[in-house]
Amino acid sequence: MTVPESPRVDHVARLDLAAFRRAVLDWFDARGRVFPFRGTTDAYLVLVSEVLLQQTQISRGGPAWVRFTTEFPTVQALAAASPADVLRAWQGLGYNRRAINLRRAARIVVDELGGAFPRDVAGLERLPGVGPYTARAVASIAFQVPTGAVDTNVRRVLGRVLAGGADGLTAHQLQAAADDVVDPGQPDDWTHALMDIGSTLCKPVRPLCPECPVAAFCGYAAGVRPRGLDAARPGVARPRPAGAATRAAAGEFHETTRWLRGRILDLLRDAPGDAWTDFDQPIGGHDRAAIGVSLRAMERDGLLELEGVESASPRARLPIA
Ligand code: SF4
Repeated sequence: MTVPESPRVDHVARLDLAAFRRAVLDWFDARGRVFPFRGTTDAYLVLVSEVLLQQTQISRGGPAWVRFTTEFPTVQALAAASPADVLRAWQGLGYNRRAINLRRAARIVVDELGGAFPRDVAGLERLPGVGPYTARAVASIAFQVPTGAVDTNVRRVLGRVLAGGADGLTAHQLQAAADDVVDPGQPDDWTHALMDIGSTLCKPVRPLCPECPVAAFCGYAAGVRPRGLDAARPGVARPRPAGAATRAAAGEFHETTRWLRGRILDLLRDAPGDAWTDFDQPIGGHDRAAIGVSLRAMERDGLLELEGVESASPRARLPIA
């Protein structure tokens, strides 16, 4: 018979939880980062920020969030926009399916939920493009739900504090621990604080433990590194000739399907209004067959409308509805 795990007993019970929470939140009050998207509890604005930051560097995410929410300030405005308008507003941010899913989520909130976002994790997770992390981040920040949002930064912090290494907890243990340690009085600040500690102090290599507010609670800082977790990995910081890897990667990137899809979308964005764009010439190193495969895949993803893909002159445009 399988014995159920007891994550709280194993990993959180030994903590002085009140002191741990106070250390995190006091640090956040004094040192937390300031971004334009922080300070709001509007679920729509929080969701946009979380979706944006999934694959976009936070330094670019702030200005991008301002631009996007200026163009679409409410969930109603986003729901009323065409996919083409949303994809044009998303230019430069990559992973364009995020934009399509964000608009689909807005349509569901407006058309099926009377304009009000679900206030719990399960309801949020039913929206397109909203996974376990995003649902918990929105629930904690917008609705003060005491739930632990676990991204790679939080996984590293809690794994190191509670188990001595970033990979020291199973996914189930990690989520249970994250839910246990969250401060029920300030779930929004808690979510921001753990993310800030993870990204500014608890770096993957050479974490800044002497500056960390939870060093006194941390198994990793105390030298407890079970199974050698987080030991310096040979090669991670190995010096290499300046620019060599970057140039090689850039050359290869132009051969990738991802690059091709981005180029196709750029061409469609540059087309005026709802005009069609012909795809009868190679793009970069990609021949017409490869372009046809990408066009079909992008049509399935809702990123474009497509005509004549079996012909020698397929044409496409951004979706207008
Ligand atoms: S004390 Fe060090 S290892 Fe522990 S959470 Fe802080 S930065 Fe990370």
